[in-house]
Amino acid sequence: MTSSQLTSSQVTSSQLSGQTWLIKGVQPAGGPATDLILVGGRITETGQGLTATGAQVLDGTGLIALPGLVDLHTHLREPGREDAETVLTGTRAAALGGFTAVHAMANTEPVADTAGVVEQIWRLGRQAGFCDVRPVGAVTAGLEGSRLAELGAMADSAAQVRIFSDDGHCVSDALLMRRALEYVKAFGGVIAQHAQEPRLTDGAQLNEGEMSGLLGLAGWPAVAEEAIIARDCLLAAHVGSALHVCHVSTAGSVEIIRWAKSKGWRVTAEVTPHHLLLTDELAASYNPVYKVNPPLRTPADVDALRAGLADGTIDCVATDHAPHAAEDKETEWQVAAFGMTGLETALRVVHAAMVETGLLDWAGVADRMSARPAAIGQLDGSGGRGAASPFALVHGRPLEPGSPANLVLYDPAARSVVDPAQHASQSRNTPFAGMELPGQVIATFLRGEPTVLDGKLAR
Ligand SMILES: [Zn+2]
Repeated sequence: MTSSQLTSSQVTSSQLSGQTWLIKGVQPAGGPATDLILVGGRITETGQGLTATGAQVLDGTGLIALPGLVDLHTHLREPGREDAETVLTGTRAAALGGFTAVHAMANTEPVADTAGVVEQIWRLGRQAGFCDVRPVGAVTAGLEGSRLAELGAMADSAAQVRIFSDDGHCVSDALLMRRALEYVKAFGGVIAQHAQEPRLTDGAQLNEGEMSGLLGLAGWPAVAEEAIIARDCLLAAHVGSALHVCHVSTAGSVEIIRWAKSKGWRVTAEVTPHHLLLTDELAASYNPVYKVNPPLRTPADVDALRAGLADGTIDCVATDHAPHAAEDKETEWQVAAFGMTGLETALRVVHAAMVETGLLDWAGVADRMSARPAAIGQLDGSGGRGAASPFALVHGRPLEPGSPANLVLYDPAARSVVDPAQHASQSRNTPFAGMELPGQVIATFLRGEPTVLDGKLAR
């Protein structure tokens, strides 16, 4: 069988550090089984019957290998709410979920709206070492929606911010949104919008429909999301800039994004694992673990989101991992915080919602959970200005010789009941607790070093 190999000079230069790993018989993106050799942070060789003197050997029989997963939407809560999550606990959770890079949302305390705060978060990620942490910068100062934050200073900082978002809040002022889209064009930035028309969702608790009527809770209409997405697509087209739509949750939103893409506009979108699997019927339990922003929607919306992800209208899966301390979540529905954890279950939920249903194959999962989010976040190093990005050529690459050794090994035949007590996240607010899900992350490698081995943190 064929064996691809780097030139000896490349291998020599990359052998300066780290352990050599020989992974036997894995299936890259679900394809034919092969061996992989990892040396000095890179995949140096692929093929059958490989040997490597002194290497650590890992039997990958029956395991699928995917490029390390990339999350565009993670709440790490540090600084400010370390009781809910820290960069360390959140990135441990990410590694256990198969992620090698996460984008940390800006709604921390203080808000990540200056070069100083984004650099602090970036450095905490480097110190933790479980996955790359790419800070998202706030669009408006203090997330207050009145004036632009220091977008250029954050882009020029060591954290090299490329995605900006007021997530948790919508940039509802159309003129401010236009100015933000115009501003980031200078350095190839992206505005990621939390699409929620505030007046239409004042006091809203769950999806407006049969279930909100039945439970007597204030409804959250689909149009509150769709109106903002339609407006922002038009604004992005008008100024020729890049819009990313966070956590798309309705069938109508998928239609609008499909239309915007058909025009050739620079619009990308994400969907969360929970919106791919769960519906608003769960709210009948009044259990606030199902309270989330945007809300869980109807079975028809779930079908449209799955179809949109399958046909590429929705570019990627993003977790919107939103850890909350027990006192903020285990309370009455109306006062409970919005949000769910998701890093440790994301791949398994996508397996259940998209692979077991035949809508995506594993190559499709690699595209929607690694390659495309890496491209949107510019983890491939494109679109930057000035010095080479610290994230350059690191994430979302196919598992080929020369690629960085960022990968996850996943057992698709495993099945187990989700037990939040086993999670590394500081918080326990997973809606999948007690649910049987397929699959298990067996190992995660970040630049050739295991962060997870045998399903457990490697250190
Ligand atoms: Zn949001």
